[in-house]
Amino acid sequence: MIKKLVIFGVGLIGGSLALALRQANYCQTIVGCSRNAAHLQTAVDLGVIDSFTLDPQEAVKDADMVLLAVPMGAMGKLLQQIKPALPADVILTDAGSTKGSIVAEVEQVFGAGYTRFVPGHPIAGREKSGVEAAIPDLYHNRRVILTPLPQTDAAALASVDAMWQVTGALVEQMPVDLHDRVLAATSHLPHLLAFSLVDTLLNMPQREDILRYAAGGFRDFTRIASSDPVMWRDICLTNKEAILGVIGDFQKNLGEFATMIDEQDGEALHSRMEKAKQARDNYIAYLENGKVA
Ligand code: NAD
Repeated sequence: MIKKLVIFGVGLIGGSLALALRQANYCQTIVGCSRNAAHLQTAVDLGVIDSFTLDPQEAVKDADMVLLAVPMGAMGKLLQQIKPALPADVILTDAGSTKGSIVAEVEQVFGAGYTRFVPGHPIAGREKSGVEAAIPDLYHNRRVILTPLPQTDAAALASVDAMWQVTGALVEQMPVDLHDRVLAATSHLPHLLAFSLVDTLLNMPQREDILRYAAGGFRDFTRIASSDPVMWRDICLTNKEAILGVIGDFQKNLGEFATMIDEQDGEALHSRMEKAKQARDNYIAYLENGKVA
């Protein structure tokens, strides 16, 4: 049970958590804070939060849990703003998509020995953003990865774990570096490829014909290029090393496919495609057996 939960950034992610916790009566009060009074008023009107303030220091007064759910690029400034007013025994957590950068920012603002921060990342989302897109069951049966640090207080970690369990999420732990490398491969690279494919086609002289005749495959492959550009810009900038690493792997692999086509090596092409198809089919079967959310 949480007495006062403060959510910075009551959009899709923060709003969906608030809705799930309210449905379970897990918080006495949920206060929202961001820069936009109209968005926050909408969040109150939709029953997502109880009240809001535009003043970060006012927001964190008497809080027992503070969640940062703003774009990655806004986290550092927010930490500096709340520092003077943050209660000593508060639990500070976040929902950011990359973990190394927020961990470094918290260390810079609060010092290396700060024990009250529990880094987190719900692996759930939609292409829509904003509080209007928030739904109470967004996290149901989805993974939430916590990346505690050696100094993270065990009781604070247990509280954040318990909060996410209330939403129906499957909570797991992972080291920060591993999180950022895994997510670069499974989420950041696919989003970049979708953005890059659409961008490539836009720059072709025959782009209108291409888009007119694009079929289901194009629609499926590019679905995630409709995601929020601010969020994805910030993810790319804050997970630079890991993303550059997987881009390099992908470029090498695509180059190999180009060579097979150039050399008309149908046998090699078929064998690589067959291997990829098998791996993808196995993955889908695994999902459908309910082993992965
Ligand atoms: P969103 O756009 O729906 O909500 C972001 C909220 O932050 C909005 O309420 C906005 O008003 C507020 N905000 C924006 N800039 C701000 C600033 N400078 N200061 C204060 N408030 C500001 O975005 P979202 O999808 O809810 O994403 C929020 C966080 O969750 C991001 O860090 C993102 O990386 C992470 N995340 C997103 C997804 C996803 O699929 N959408 C999944 C997991 C984690």
